[in-house]
Amino acid sequence: MNILARALGHLVSCREVTRLVSQLAERPPTRFERFRLSLHLAACDACAAFERQMALLRESMRRYRS
Ligand SMILES: [Zn+2]
Repeated sequence: MNILARALGHLVSCREVTRLVSQLAERPPTRFERFRLSLHLAACDACAAFERQMALLRESMRRYRS
């Protein structure tokens, strides 16, 4: 991971990203939110792992409902 990507990613805090990722289940992110998310997820392993888990959870919720 290069230093620039890491610096850019951390313009958004982990806390902010966790909140945004949790909200994905309820509403789609705006273009700007998606941009900030992808920047941060590229730089932060912890949030990337959290996002993957939430995606799995959303997927299984969707299957459960249908
Ligand atoms: Zn993070």
